[in-house]
Amino acid sequence: MAVKVVVAGATGKTGRVIARGVSQASDLELVGAVAPHHAGRRLGNVIDIPGVDIPIHASVAEALARRKADVLVDFTTPEAGFGNAMAALERGVRPVVGTTGLGAEQLEALDAAARRAGLAAIVAPNFSIGGLLMERLAAQAAALMPMVEVIEMHHAQKKDAPSGTAARLAERLAAAGARAPVPVHSVRLPGFVAHHEVLFGGQGEALVIRHDAYSREAFVPGVLIAVRAVVHAEPGLITQLWPLIERAAQA
Ligand code: NAP
Repeated sequence: MAVKVVVAGATGKTGRVIARGVSQASDLELVGAVAPHHAGRRLGNVIDIPGVDIPIHASVAEALARRKADVLVDFTTPEAGFGNAMAALERGVRPVVGTTGLGAEQLEALDAAARRAGLAAIVAPNFSIGGLLMERLAAQAAALMPMVEVIEMHHAQKKDAPSGTAARLAERLAAAGARAPVPVHSVRLPGFVAHHEVLFGGQGEALVIRHDAYSREAFVPGVLIAVRAVVHAEPGLITQLWPLIERAAQA
């Protein structure tokens, strides 16, 4: 049976690409979309998503009351993402949250709510496979080259700074032995999508690890892996995607 998925933020820059990716996966079924400013319209009339005719709802609560779903994928706003994930768990639906900007207290609350509901939940600031590899390689380098700084560069509309990926990179680098706190520099410019550089300075040498997401397609494979995994995972919040990616690669 296909996993039934509602996408919150399905008309947004990222959510529309994710919605398209879900609709094209034979083992998943896109059953609903949430986007407050487009409520009442059909998703296929708002974004290019061949063969899909589903309604857009005003809120996650409304979508999950009307559509039977297994998973809520959320790519919305830092203000909405947490409440949407909680609303999903309250209705027995597992959240996969790509929305960035959730704080430590919110993550703790989601973990507690997921355990109470007996469901798994996933929150990850970067679903791209290359982005996850960057994090792992940078942590390895930080143990030997502790003088490190991070530059994150994004499109001018991005609402939060630093990016969730950069904030997490800084934490991960410090935990791996980098000089803490690791400085993070944010750039917001038109034309950019999502780019991260980890710069290590040593004696007479420098090392740069860079990841570029040229299009939001970069996030689709990781999100689909998370959607498939969250259905079977143990109750509680998962914030480490890498084990899921490795398991999917071995399957
Ligand atoms: P965007 O283009 O501004 O789209 C936001 C979407 O959220 C729109 O569809 C909007 O619908 C909807 N929305 C707003 N408030 C909502 C609410 N209360 N409930 C449900 N939907 C709501 O944003 P974006 O650039 O795609 O980014 C979305 C989020 O994803 C950001 O936090 C970004 O940092 C994050 N992101 C994460 C990753 C990752 O790998 N984890 C990758 C890329 C982006 P209306 O237009 O109808 O209001």
